[in-house]
Amino acid sequence: MEKKVYLDNAATTYVSTEVLNEMMPCFNVFYGNSNSVHSFGREAAGLVDRARDRIARAINAKSNEIYFTSGGTEADNWAIKGIAHAYSFKGKHIITSKIEHSAVLEACKSLEKEGFEVTYLPVDSNGLVSLAELIHAIRKDTILISIMAVNNEVGTIQNIKAIGKTAKENNIIFHTDAVQAFGSLKIDVVDMEIDAMSLSSHKIYGPKGVGALYVRNGIKIENIIDGGHQERGRRGGTTNVPGVVGFGKAAEIAVRDMPLFNQKIKSLRDYFIREITAKIPYITINGHMHQKVNNIVNVSFELVDNEAVLLMLDFEGIAVSTGSACLAGAVEPSYVLTSMGLDSELVKGAVRFSFGRSTTKADIDYTVEKLVEIIEKLRKISPQTKAGRKGDK
Ligand SMILES: *Cc1c(COP(=O)(O)O)cnc(C)c1O
Repeated sequence: MEKKVYLDNAATTYVSTEVLNEMMPCFNVFYGNSNSVHSFGREAAGLVDRARDRIARAINAKSNEIYFTSGGTEADNWAIKGIAHAYSFKGKHIITSKIEHSAVLEACKSLEKEGFEVTYLPVDSNGLVSLAELIHAIRKDTILISIMAVNNEVGTIQNIKAIGKTAKENNIIFHTDAVQAFGSLKIDVVDMEIDAMSLSSHKIYGPKGVGALYVRNGIKIENIIDGGHQERGRRGGTTNVPGVVGFGKAAEIAVRDMPLFNQKIKSLRDYFIREITAKIPYITINGHMHQKVNNIVNVSFELVDNEAVLLMLDFEGIAVSTGSACLAGAVEPSYVLTSMGLDSELVKGAVRFSFGRSTTKADIDYTVEKLVEIIEKLRKISPQTKAGRKGDK
């Protein structure tokens, strides 16, 4: 059988067996509408309540602070637009960063068209937002700060607790996109003074199409999905019971197994970095050296095009990502790496490897072996190699 290696776990994960087992009866046994008053409905509602409790417990929130959504994208949109609209009487200024997920960036752009003003904070070469620059950007009319907990391309962890404290001191609402942090870091919304937080199920071995928005009690937020009275009147639409139940189980497992998998993935990650550093010249590891999650490694291979690397690895059965949005066939350079000040040549050669619970040492060995061959092959035919590597005599 052809060898298959999946190193794109930051894009999505498989659904774990434990999660799948929990979901299965929701399709054909406990299939009631969780908003119906009869026994079928009550049974489904009980399962949804339990899932909500599990999510709440995983982040130290209260159950009535959790709202289920169709995923991280909806949670981000709801947080940004819903909070901005609810507090526009106070001001119309929002602070975010240049390296947020497109769900946050596009929601902010949409608000700009309505007359809101948005400051997009720069990041340093490690991908970190500076607290000093954040404080400097705060104005009298700032109503919302949205800074992601962990970046999906490079894995850098922001100083969330310090940002939360700053927001609180200035009476500004703090939202964080914690989609990539969930399951990798301990998140405590009370300790970190987080007012709103986006989560997604399919990055933590749960099903796709479900996520959650945590909103601290007392924070105002306008609805964006109008409809029935689901989610305590905050979000219309029949509840995705199997999805929610799977997400709840996945969240419980993510917290339960975090120390185990973090350790396992860290040692594989360190092994991978040692191997490629020893066997492939002219590479750079992007992102923060230490303040980053274990499962994401972003590497720039000089003198090669990342799309070519991706396609050739795919030909060998290895799945990775270039971390850049492929819009209508046109490959855009990564705005995250560009914002970090990387040389355009390094941006063009950047590949994201993201490890998961089932990644093995054999997977890494196979990937390194193929990577050595592919990079060598591509560099031989690269016109840049003929012109000479920058800095070489
Ligand atoms: C995947 C991701 C999202 C989007 O979540 P979906 O559930 O796929 O909509 C948002 N933010 C970050 C950081 C992500 O990695």
